[in-house]
Amino acid sequence: MRMTKWLEDEIVKHKLTNDKLQNSETLFRGILEITPIAIILVSKHTERIKYLNAQAVELLCADGADLIGRNLSEYFVNPQDVKVLNESFTINKNVSKNDISMKRSDGSRFIGFVTVIPSIYEEEEVALSCIVDMTEQKKVEETLKWNNDCIIELNKELTNINSNLINKSIKDGLTNLYNHQYMNEVLEVKLQEISKTNENLCLMMMDIDHFKRVNDKYGHLTGDKVLTVVAEIIMKNTSNNDYIGRYGGEEFIVVLPNNDLETAAAIAENLRWNISNFDFGLDGLKVTISIGVVQYTGEKSNFLINRADRLLYQAKSNGRNRVEIKLNQIA
Ligand code: GH3
Ligand code: MG
Ligand code: MG
Repeated sequence: MRMTKWLEDEIVKHKLTNDKLQNSETLFRGILEITPIAIILVSKHTERIKYLNAQAVELLCADGADLIGRNLSEYFVNPQDVKVLNESFTINKNVSKNDISMKRSDGSRFIGFVTVIPSIYEEEEVALSCIVDMTEQKKVEETLKWNNDCIIELNKELTNINSNLINKSIKDGLTNLYNHQYMNEVLEVKLQEISKTNENLCLMMMDIDHFKRVNDKYGHLTGDKVLTVVAEIIMKNTSNNDYIGRYGGEEFIVVLPNNDLETAAAIAENLRWNISNFDFGLDGLKVTISIGVVQYTGEKSNFLINRADRLLYQAKSNGRNRVEIKLNQIA
């Protein structure tokens, strides 16, 4: 009698457990069916599909019944990628792989994000595989990247155009030296700087001698060539800290920060020598230059320029092809 009662209790308990299990199974399947992620259960041993949810059927573009029993590797473009299943079993952990190239049963392709979780289903080891179609996201990412690259390129071009424009606005088109206006600005800035530091600054004004004769004898184009060669000689024989400008037609100006009069005079003499000895290779064409050199003594920039100018014309009246200097004389 007691035995019967115990057996009846056990049967009731068993039924309850069974009902619970069935409820869990129903719940599990319900969740699998409504989840927006494609889920495929693949047997570890046979590598064949045991189950796939509605989302997976839709994603792989086939009738669900057809896919059961198929090998999952058929849906990977690169069979190597299927290793993701085994990896999860080897380390007994979830494994996720991005950018996996996959194909549907009709051959069309998509980019998948695959996560594999080792699990048990119907008492068999299975790879619970979740696949998300990333194709649209990839397209958006690629479009964004393309847009970004375009913006970077545009920006580079703008920066180039900008620096070309700045260059054009401060340079002389023929000689590529700074122009008159920019040299005036440079001189102002440099004088302001040294008013605080008390450093030396010198200035040279120079003018090609009898340049009109060059044009008259050899033509305007040769005259232009002479101007560019003289500009090059000045650039070669001055330092990177100096500012060189074409101040007028055949007139040049050089601002030499951190130079005393003696050094500036030596630079000027070297320039004069190099210009007068340059062989243009043209029917005896030679040019000479006259130079006035001054050192800054606290005056305004236009007085400093004026002082150099006066020395330049003194060089002209003293016979040309000369350097004239005068020590610390304020105009
Ligand atoms: P000086 O020794 O007194 O300076 O005599 P100069 O002949 O050099 O001076 P002048 O002022 O009489 O003549 C300057 C000449 O420079 C006249 C002008 O045609 C020429 N010139 C000015 N700018 C340019 C230019 O860009 N190219 C050419 N080829 N000639 C120019
Ligand atoms: Mg001249
Ligand atoms: Mg002149």
